[in-house]
Amino acid sequence: MRNKQKIAIVGAGLGGAAAATLLQKAGFEVDIYEQAPEFSRIGAGIHMGPNIMKIFRRMGIEQKLSDMGSHPDFWFSRDGASGDYLSRIPLGEFARKEYGAAYITVHRGDLHALQMSTIAPGTVHFNKRLTGIEETDELVRLRFSDGTTTEVDIVIGADGINSRIREELLGAEKPLYSGWVAHRALIRSEVLAKYDMDFENCVKWWSEDRHMMVYHTTSKRDEYYYVTGVPHPAWDFQGSFVDSSRDEMYDAFQGYHPTVQALIESSESVTKWPLLNRNPLPLWSRGRMVLLGDACHPMKPHMAQGAGMAIEDAAMLTRCLQETGLTDYRTAFKLYEANRKDRASRVQAVSNANTWLRTQEDPAWVYGYDLYSHPLKSEVAA
Ligand code: FAD
Repeated sequence: MRNKQKIAIVGAGLGGAAAATLLQKAGFEVDIYEQAPEFSRIGAGIHMGPNIMKIFRRMGIEQKLSDMGSHPDFWFSRDGASGDYLSRIPLGEFARKEYGAAYITVHRGDLHALQMSTIAPGTVHFNKRLTGIEETDELVRLRFSDGTTTEVDIVIGADGINSRIREELLGAEKPLYSGWVAHRALIRSEVLAKYDMDFENCVKWWSEDRHMMVYHTTSKRDEYYYVTGVPHPAWDFQGSFVDSSRDEMYDAFQGYHPTVQALIESSESVTKWPLLNRNPLPLWSRGRMVLLGDACHPMKPHMAQGAGMAIEDAAMLTRCLQETGLTDYRTAFKLYEANRKDRASRVQAVSNANTWLRTQEDPAWVYGYDLYSHPLKSEVAA
């Protein structure tokens, strides 16, 4: 017999972790179920724009993250071969003044660990892969691969692109392989000291069908990171990523600027990831189940806003549940979709098109957005 209303979040990625913290701060009873046995610091960086830093302010981690990350003054776009500047998008002090918070780049593992530290002890349950879902009039029963079950009032599917909850709502369907892969490498900055070159804080090198995005992941700027987008006919490998190599990188970036060649020469190890996405989903919730983040609107990562959208979802869903109370979750889920779908779908489309900041444009609609400053749109989808 349950005597308290409870929320289960499935998946403790950047979106699920944000939802847990924000819901707990709002006074809800929350548990997170995560399939992984633990998290480790995998080799990757991430951008967090001012739109997300404003949410981190509410979570009480804005300053810590700001101290941890690198603060680029600009996002530069440059021609891959000549190095000519295609755009110079002001960030740094400009972002703080114009958009109301800093723009930072950081190690993804450091960000995740910081987010996890804000969740109440005992909330996150590891080694819990969701395998079965049963919904009744009164509750949802979740079954996990270790044979355990739990009963809750609502379930938030923050379980990523292969979401089990999405499958429950819409049927089994593999994500779409976009035809592009991303190479990722972390480089110690001291290795770059031998080159007489300017390794800029945040720069994207472009040519017709591929690119390399490069930035620092720490405040000391002792770690430099690149992530690419390169066409690749089919993803015919097992697992979510495979090892790549310097030779493969030289091939992919033939003719690119000497700075890019220096980065490839300095890469001790390179990994290769498929870039996957899905078309916009026809529904975001049904009954007691609701989706957020990559479970709901996965995208190619070229706007550096995928996790950002997951965190915005978490903040908006919390706001809507606060507005209605958990008993009226149906209205909360409709409000949530009404207040998120246009923005998330627009970001998904621009990110997939890979045009963001390639030329001089105004990014205010993304970075200037303050999720808490807009009244909730009340018109709800029928
Ligand atoms: P995930 O991070 O995928 O988390 C899902 C969690 O659910 C995982 O921990 C998983 O183990 C767990 N899970 C899955 N299935 C189950 C189950 N059945 N039971 C229990 N647990 C389960 N975004 C940005 O904002 N900025 C960037 O700079 C950026 N760069 C990127 C670069 C690359 C190369 C890629 C591929 C993505 C990038 N993204 C970036 C996008 C970002 O990584 C995703 O949008 C983000 O991680 C989505 O968060 P999420 O919490 O929705 O899902």
